Amino acid sequence: MPKFKVVVWCDHCLNDAEGCFGGGTETIGSSFETWEDAQKAASEYCGHLPYGYRVEEDDEY
Ligand SMILES: [Zn+2]
Repeated sequence: MPKFKVVVWCDHCLNDAEGCFGGGTETIGSSFETWEDAQKAASEYCGHLPYGYRVEEDDEY
């Protein structure tokens, strides 16, 4: 079974080296057992911040 990780970024700061996540993306969680678990963690993390996120399969597992 694949595991899942959450990658987030800030819509306001993309490509701004001094912005959130250095203007790039950051993995905030990994090894989620299900896509739904990862999705839930992502939506809780981002809250009402101007962050985008995506859930990806975690290749390390
Ligand atoms: Zn930002």
